Amino acid sequence: MKLTVHGSRGSVPISSPQSVGYGGNTSCYELLFDDYQLIFDTGTGFRQVKLDQFKRTFIFYSHWHHDHIQGLAFNSGMFNAEKKIHISSALNNKITCRKLIHQYFSGFYFPIELTELLPNLMFLEFNEVQRSCKRDFSIETLKLNHPGGSVGYSVKWNDIKISFLLDNEYNISQFSNLSGFVHGANLVVWDGMFSNADLVSKGDWGHSSIEQGIEFFQQCDITKMLITHHAPSRTDQQLDTLAKKLPDGVRLARDGLIVDFT
Ligand SMILES: [Zn+2]
Ligand SMILES: [Zn+2]
Repeated sequence: MKLTVHGSRGSVPISSPQSVGYGGNTSCYELLFDDYQLIFDTGTGFRQVKLDQFKRTFIFYSHWHHDHIQGLAFNSGMFNAEKKIHISSALNNKITCRKLIHQYFSGFYFPIELTELLPNLMFLEFNEVQRSCKRDFSIETLKLNHPGGSVGYSVKWNDIKISFLLDNEYNISQFSNLSGFVHGANLVVWDGMFSNADLVSKGDWGHSSIEQGIEFFQQCDITKMLITHHAPSRTDQQLDTLAKKLPDGVRLARDGLIVDFT
C-alpha cells in the first residue's frame, strides 16, 4: 500500500517562493493497493492524481468545504468517459453528495455543468461501498468535530491500517472514540492547522493544533503520524522549525510526499 500526499495545505491554495518546499495545494490524499485507487478529498492537489485505468477508483469526501472539493474539475483524466469514478461520503447520502458537487461546479460558480457533462461520475452510498469492497479491504468512518460536519476514515488492507482525521477540532471528550478508531494504525493523518497559541483566538474554527497531534500520538497505539492541513500563512521556514521539534514517528506532510507500506 502506498500513500501519496497531493495537497497538504489547508483553507486556500497558495503559491509563493516561501512555500515551494511544502507546497500550496489543498487537501488530497491517494491510497494505492491491489486493484484499488482510493482518493480522500479533491482539493487542488487532485490535479496531480494520475487516474489509474487498471484500478477501481473511489473518491471519499470528508466534508464539502471548498478546500476539499475545489480541484475535482481540474484533473484531465476525469474527462475520459471510459474511466468510471466512484464518489461517496459517509457524511451525506449519495443524492446530497451529487447535489452539492453539482451546485459547486455549475451556474454562477463554474462555466460547465460538471455532473451533467461527466456521466462517468458514479455517486454511491457509503454503506454500499463498504459492503461491495469488504472482501478486498475495509473502510470505517467516524464523525469528527467541525463546523458543518466532517467524517474521518480508516482503511485496512492486509494488516495495514491508515486513518484520516480531516478536518477536526480536537477536544478531550473525543479521546476515547478517536483512539479506538485509530487503534493499531500504521499511520494517522492529523489536522494540525493551528498551534496551541493560535487556538487561543481561533477556537471553534474547526481545526486542531500540532501540539494536540503530538499528545494524541503519544497516548495512542499508532505507529506514525502525519500532520497536515498547514495554515496558508505558514512558510517553509516556519514549518521546518516546527518539524525539528517533532518526536520520532511524527512528521509534517508536504505535497508529493509518498509513504510506502509494502
Ligand atoms: Zn479544510
Ligand atoms: Zn473544513
